[in-house]
Amino acid sequence: GSESPVDPLLLGALSEEKLRLDHTNNYVLKKKLQVWCRLPDDEWGLGEIQSISGNNANILLPEGRALTVLVENLLPSNPQVLDGVDDLIQLSYLNEPSVLHSLKCRYVHDIVYTKAGPVLVAINPFKEVPLYGDDYIAAYREKTTDNPHVYAIADSAFNGMMRDGVNQSIIISGESGAGKTETAKIAMQYLAALGGGSGIEYELLQTNPILEAFGNAKTLRNDNSSRFGKLIDIHFSTSARICGAKIQTFLLEKSRVVQRAKGERSYHVFYQLCAGAPASLREKLNLKAANNYEYLKQSDCLIIDNVDDALRFHKLTDALDIVRVSKEDQESVFAMLAAVLWLGNIEYLVIDNENHVEVISSEAVTNVAKLMGCKVPDLMLTLSTHKIQAGNDVVIQKLTLPQAISTRDALAKSIYSSLFDCLVEQINRSLEVGKLRTGRFISILDIYGFESYDKNSFEQFCINYANERLQQHFNRHLFKLEQEEYIQDGIDWTKVEFVDNNECLNLFEKKPLGLLSLLDEELTFPKATDLTLANKLKQHLIGNHCFKGEREGAFRICHCAGEVLYETNGFLEKNGDPLHSDSIQLLLSCNCQLPQLCAARLLNQSQNPVSPFWRLGSVESQKHSVATKFKGQLFNLMQRLEGTTPHFIRCIKPNSKQLPGIYENDLVLQQLRCCGVLEVVRISRSGYPSRMTHQQFAERYGFLLLEDVQFQDPLSVSVAILQQFNILPEMYQVGYTKLFFRTGQIAALEDIRNHTM
Ligand code: ADP
Ligand code: MG
Repeated sequence: GSESPVDPLLLGALSEEKLRLDHTNNYVLKKKLQVWCRLPDDEWGLGEIQSISGNNANILLPEGRALTVLVENLLPSNPQVLDGVDDLIQLSYLNEPSVLHSLKCRYVHDIVYTKAGPVLVAINPFKEVPLYGDDYIAAYREKTTDNPHVYAIADSAFNGMMRDGVNQSIIISGESGAGKTETAKIAMQYLAALGGGSGIEYELLQTNPILEAFGNAKTLRNDNSSRFGKLIDIHFSTSARICGAKIQTFLLEKSRVVQRAKGERSYHVFYQLCAGAPASLREKLNLKAANNYEYLKQSDCLIIDNVDDALRFHKLTDALDIVRVSKEDQESVFAMLAAVLWLGNIEYLVIDNENHVEVISSEAVTNVAKLMGCKVPDLMLTLSTHKIQAGNDVVIQKLTLPQAISTRDALAKSIYSSLFDCLVEQINRSLEVGKLRTGRFISILDIYGFESYDKNSFEQFCINYANERLQQHFNRHLFKLEQEEYIQDGIDWTKVEFVDNNECLNLFEKKPLGLLSLLDEELTFPKATDLTLANKLKQHLIGNHCFKGEREGAFRICHCAGEVLYETNGFLEKNGDPLHSDSIQLLLSCNCQLPQLCAARLLNQSQNPVSPFWRLGSVESQKHSVATKFKGQLFNLMQRLEGTTPHFIRCIKPNSKQLPGIYENDLVLQQLRCCGVLEVVRISRSGYPSRMTHQQFAERYGFLLLEDVQFQDPLSVSVAILQQFNILPEMYQVGYTKLFFRTGQIAALEDIRNHTM
């Protein structure tokens, strides 16, 4: 029929004289045409069109099955020679099944990297693949291979930095378990090999096991899931040697220290310490096996298959040696870890019918006090009472059981997260950019990807917010800036649509009625609960397309990567992150250095640390909320990234079983969609990736001209060059200020130039 919604590309494929009308007015194919056919189970299968009548096509599937489907369920497939192309822009027909198929063809041959225009797609092999090491590094260095690879991306970042003097960034994104952290390490290895020589590169690589021990944990999605974001700036000297590095971390998930889902673990370092500490240390810290600690055993998961925690502990201490954390400092760090573990074993006794409690004196209490260097009675009091200011008096208020537990847990979480920060600081001191500093650097960003579980809480809320910001950066560079440049320069260009996520970002950031503002506002109400928060959100955000209120305390956000259901349960406390000043006071009273350092850090984070009353009040109200602090960090990050030339790597998880050899179409497709891979390919394919001003072009190639053009303007010279070399009109466009070229055209001109010089 004339209104059949047939894909125009499919029509194109069909009309290439492959169709013939037979006597019954049915189209018959002269040559059998391979197409993608949406099967009843919603998967795409390759089939052959036998005939078409009206809106129906008769398809023959490979296993001999015949099927009649609506033409709208067909998409053109690519000729077999294009199976598994290096760059998706080479596909003749760009559609989802073709892209899925192409990536799969490579994946089954352990070719895990593919270009999608300027973006590198990396599929997690979940096994060792022979793609790394010195020989491969050499091949990319010497440019004897141009297969897509993380090494190639790192190489072009390095060259961009050295050649143009512009700082570069490698931005790695993807879901949890997609391979971001491994990819970041592979990029670092390449840069370390390229810029090695000073010895700093060795220290740099050793930061990985340290950060992973303290910041990674086994989750249901990834046995080695990073629970923090990280940006590493690697600085280079004028002679292209690594001369230092700086690590910045984002939002460590500290709730994990005291609580997490069944089947997940707390941070690796706890189990490593319990399993691997030598006898002397064990004795000093009163260390027991992991299953003796409430904080560790509560989630029914103490070991990871094929991971030897004791061995990892030795690797960790080796790495700490290398980044010059003294043995003494290492021991204090381990003492604090042990203190955190013993804190979790502290128990309470309910002493009245109002649920007030006292701390039960136990081995746990004495151990914590000993490890932190504080007095046992001080510790017991801090964990069961709050001092509050009432007029001119200080009143001691007994805590109820839930209050006491959350006070204890808050202390454990704060100690751990400040410990993490202290460690990062120490590493940074060790890697400090030396005198040779040139200001040239490459930043590698490895930040948690989009997360959506059955139950999503404040952590996912922040993580997904960060991903919206990153997605915007990606969109800006690959879609917006690119197309704006075409339009500004007046060339013929049909705009490619892409999903803009500004509305979702607005939902978070708008003032005063955005998610973040409303969250913070609720913190200032003493009577607020998670439920009042949920109601407030529903009341104010109901008109927003990206927001949906749900039953009870839940709400939904339509993220660019899909809808996520959040439960507000715990939002207020996690955002406020209250640590009572009594707890800080306790840390300050310790006669060990680390607790004091932690206290100083915690005080520094408060907005108004010099207030004379901080000792008595709660620090909570003076402090920035967690979400607001995170937003500040993200803005700062974006600003820094804007000053660099970005290189994007999209990591893809081929299956949710963490197993090799399994490629789940749906899962891959959903990830490709949410990061806009198809749109990027579409733009790059139809776009003009190379550009030069008329001036630059005339200067570079003008001498090739046969006629004398010395006194002509750059535009005329440029046009003369294009004509002399018969550059096909579809290969370029002339803009007001620049010439725009298709992929490969500049390379062809450079060939001519090199032969003439
Ligand atoms: P993410 O940081 O995205 O959450 P990871 O980088 O931790 O994911 O990768 C998860 C796991 O997948 C790793 O522990 C490793 O087993 C495997 N993996 C990822 N990338 C590779 C790779 N290039 N080669 C081999 N295994 C990999
Ligand atoms: Mg990671």
